[in-house]
Amino acid sequence: MPAFRFDNTYARELSGFYTPWPPAQVPAPQLLYFNEALAEELGLAGAELQGAAGAQLFAGNVLPEGAEPIAQVYAGHQFGGFSPRLGDGRALLLGEVVDTQGRRRDIAFKGSGRTPYSRGGDGKAAVGPMLREVLIGEAMHALGIPTTRALAVAATGERVRREQPLPGAVLTRVAASHLRVGTFQFFLAEGDLPKLRQLLDYAIARHDPALIGRSDGETGREMAFLRAVAQRQARLIAQWMNVGFIHGVMNTDNMTISGETIDYGPCAFMEAYDPATVFSSIDHGGRYAYGNQPGIARWNLARLAETLLPLVADENDEAAVQRVVAEATAVIDGFPLWCAQALLQGQRAKLGLQATADDEEDGRLVDAWLALLHTQAVDFTLAWRLLADAAEGRPEPLRDQFRDRAALDAWLQHWQARVAQDDAAAPMKPAERAAAMRRVSPWVIPRNHQVETALAAATAGDLAPFHALLAALQRPFDSDPALAAYAVPAPAAETAAYQTFCGT
Ligand code: AMP
Ligand code: MG
Repeated sequence: MPAFRFDNTYARELSGFYTPWPPAQVPAPQLLYFNEALAEELGLAGAELQGAAGAQLFAGNVLPEGAEPIAQVYAGHQFGGFSPRLGDGRALLLGEVVDTQGRRRDIAFKGSGRTPYSRGGDGKAAVGPMLREVLIGEAMHALGIPTTRALAVAATGERVRREQPLPGAVLTRVAASHLRVGTFQFFLAEGDLPKLRQLLDYAIARHDPALIGRSDGETGREMAFLRAVAQRQARLIAQWMNVGFIHGVMNTDNMTISGETIDYGPCAFMEAYDPATVFSSIDHGGRYAYGNQPGIARWNLARLAETLLPLVADENDEAAVQRVVAEATAVIDGFPLWCAQALLQGQRAKLGLQATADDEEDGRLVDAWLALLHTQAVDFTLAWRLLADAAEGRPEPLRDQFRDRAALDAWLQHWQARVAQDDAAAPMKPAERAAAMRRVSPWVIPRNHQVETALAAATAGDLAPFHALLAALQRPFDSDPALAAYAVPAPAAETAAYQTFCGT
């Protein structure tokens, strides 16, 4: 039996959307990481996944039976500027498998060498950034946030040239699909409407099968698709925001149709709360700052909408164009509200509130809390986490985080009044409430300094800190004292100087 039971719909159904391309051969493969739990979920089996054979396979030297490696084409707006021809410059889709729960998942390499879309790049990746994808992706997964995941990382035994030479690696990435907003943009830019329609059909079959054969008016299917993508993104961005995640490079080629987080390049987690937080070294204007993420997602969705318009309305039929533009605009304009609602829903749970209530009033309560964190530069993650202790009548650990405790105490009074109201509507013991809060406000997130320390050690050949950090990130909600070291923020000066890098 083959290790992967491939069934490659993208390669089979979408010729003209990719270039068949083999991974580069590498000199000395070594398996650095293998995700056994994910392999099980994918129904993978076979000795060739582990040990020396696994190293050959996951470094790209030996293709698994049934793989059909292809480099996918796409376009994208990068920092607002349009690149009509991007595509997988250092990635290859090997194929798809249907997992044990019936979900179709892409299996892809990243860092497997140059492709026809590499432009000036070397097509390679370094050990540090690929293990970074493991850490952040697995942390996101454990936090309950939709994400692509790492199945394996293999060192290649060669050096890649960056600012300094670094050990090279190949990541094997698992995704609900690699369809991006930029995939649609490519075919719009080409003016290829038949392919655009084919892509839409494929995307609907894969991600929104409920829309197949839908016939509620001419524009029903396309606009329902746009709405479905927008709603997935609204939920995703709200989840990001509620754990302090900053993607860092929300270009349209890095926004999925599936609603999974993709491309862990310059991403980072916020420490002291400040909506203007940016870590990416190239994001000078703060385009992708923490607080801008909903606005940028909306902008990206407007680019997706543009690709769907010509499928719905003939450009010479002005009335039809106006009608569909109005429908698309309604979706795009609806997005900020969906995002805000999803955000508030998450925030309510973090406040320990169960019953539904007045949105505006709860919005004001959250805004006042966040304003306190902002003015007093309090760690976002710890503040939310320690609020659970306050729900059990132990406000001191939270109070210790604040300089101006009187301001906090005043807010706590408002919050307690709101909790009492909630308790009347949906009674809950304080310990239960605190436990519920701890299930949505993590104690352990990938602290930037911890990630950097683990990756520096891994790059130098010591994987122990990486494995220890990964183990902690896999149970972010557990109040285990053994995890305490991972819950501590970096010194503020270190965070202020922290920078992340793109295309690493
Ligand atoms: P990213 O910003 O990482 O999402 O990448 C944007 C585009 O640049 C994609 O088409 C990538 O495949 C490509 N790219 C990034 N790094 C490299 C590299 N080292 N070699 C070739 N292409 C790359
Ligand atoms: Mg990308």
